[in-house]
Amino acid sequence: MSRSRIVIVGAGFAGYQAARTLSRQFRGAAEIVLVNPNDYFLYMPLLPEVSSGILEPRRVSVSLAGTLPRVRLVLGEVDGVDFDRRHIHYVNPEGQGGELRYDRLLLTVGSVNKLLPIPGVAEHAHGFRGMPEALYLRDHVTRQVALAASTDDPAEAEARCTFVVVGAGYTGTEVAAHGKLFTDSLARQHNRPPLGVPGLRDDRRPRWMLLDIAPRVLPELDERLSRTAHRVLRKRGVDVRTEMSVKEATKDGVLLDDGEFIPTHSLIWCVGVRPDPLVEDIGLETARGRLVVDEYLRVPGQPDVMACGDAAAVPDLTRPGEFTPMTAQHAVRQGKVAARNLAASYGYGAPRAYKHRDLGFMVDLGGVQGAANPLHVPLSGPFANLVTRGYHLAAMPGNRIRVLADWALDGLLPRQAVQLGLVRSWSVPLESSSPETARVPEPEPQAEPDSKSEPKSEPDSKSKSEPESAAASEPASEPER
Ligand SMILES: Cc1cc2nc3c(=O)[nH]c(=O)nc-3n(C[C@H](O)[C@H](O)[C@H](O)COP(=O)(O)OP(=O)(O)OC[C@H]3O[C@@H](n4cnc5c(N)ncnc54)[C@H](O)[C@@H]3O)c2cc1C
Repeated sequence: MSRSRIVIVGAGFAGYQAARTLSRQFRGAAEIVLVNPNDYFLYMPLLPEVSSGILEPRRVSVSLAGTLPRVRLVLGEVDGVDFDRRHIHYVNPEGQGGELRYDRLLLTVGSVNKLLPIPGVAEHAHGFRGMPEALYLRDHVTRQVALAASTDDPAEAEARCTFVVVGAGYTGTEVAAHGKLFTDSLARQHNRPPLGVPGLRDDRRPRWMLLDIAPRVLPELDERLSRTAHRVLRKRGVDVRTEMSVKEATKDGVLLDDGEFIPTHSLIWCVGVRPDPLVEDIGLETARGRLVVDEYLRVPGQPDVMACGDAAAVPDLTRPGEFTPMTAQHAVRQGKVAARNLAASYGYGAPRAYKHRDLGFMVDLGGVQGAANPLHVPLSGPFANLVTRGYHLAAMPGNRIRVLADWALDGLLPRQAVQLGLVRSWSVPLESSSPETARVPEPEPQAEPDSKSEPKSEPDSKSKSEPESAAASEPASEPER
């Protein structure tokens, strides 16, 4: 008789934790299958350090095969679930489709960038939700500073050296805080021009703006963290504008709510996230776009299906009537509870309701600055930074020595003013159901197709059926690298 199969869709905070807990508990007694588009777990909280050149991308990408030895990894993006037949359908990274039977299913597909209906934003802004976007931003910022340094036109230099971040939650705040230090470091390297080249004079210093419609930065966190973050950003020269948003984005800049036009080529969209579109596609009940589950993380009416993390509307038992916030802190703990309750469904232990009280938050503000309130004790300055970094190291399931090595190197050496140009603007559109994968151009039709060696392309592949934004329609004009 075949072993029972538990399929987990999504290897983020919740899915990774569930897979690890289940594999340790079952020790081969059940088959644990993890379906994910990439072969790594992305430690998202350190992504701002990737876009600002402190950490190399593989440092925050923890190998699934290397750290989950008793878990079968299936590379693919799930695009349908047949609940009657208990099968999922997925498309692998080469466009081939496949099906998998499950006995139990755990959905942990996370979230994607949230869009607002503001003219021009979908075309001209970039999000910050996955590795491709972080790599794009690092290259883009490096390129803007280099182009600003080499132009004779002061207006062009100013626009290239202006970076606008919309959304002052923890993502936007960290991106702006790290971004300013990164561009200052790049500017210093461009400020030693040969004779006759303008270089980055003082009147062309990089300028970062951080906008939010809320009255304070970090609006969802403790006010003391907001005050610390605001103070650090202002001292660093970041132009923080609260109760302010964007009315329109164009290729030359952004029009603010108050009518001011900011010339820029860099609009970074950090206004929040919405659940992965798979949640809507599978046709189960949702609440605020998230898949409805009970406090045991079970999907009502589907006895073999559970869900958790950002994608699920998990009742918050500490705040009756609310759902748990979309944070890694909750996703990890829900992953553990989901694993425990899955095991209970096989008769191992008793199921447990999910209940977790917020333990505080850590915001890395770059340099030696941070704002944190572990166990609700407010911290600021270098100590907060130390605690934040220590927490991240402890929370990462691997790569700790590599991360430490990069931090040490960053303390000793200037950031590298190098852009590789591997991720282009069109391959990371803001509106994407797969921010974890960069879009690739459609392959040229082959003169003599070799039917044996060509992978069969799936017509219903999620990445191909997505609406193409204007930003995504440039591949023909961009050289392929
Ligand atoms: C820049 C940044 C910084 C952050 N910092 C913090 C922080 O400091 N503290 C904190 O608590 N939270 C932080 N968060 C939020 C936190 O990362 C999320 O709440 C958390 O990742 C949610 O976990 P999850 O498992 O639900 O989803 P994710 O971690 O997003 O994982 C979802 C997984 O599912 C995969 N997937 C998606 N669709 C499919 C599909 N159709 N088929 C198969 N696989 C699929 C994805 O590739 C991904 O691997 C941060 C987020 C960002 C973007």
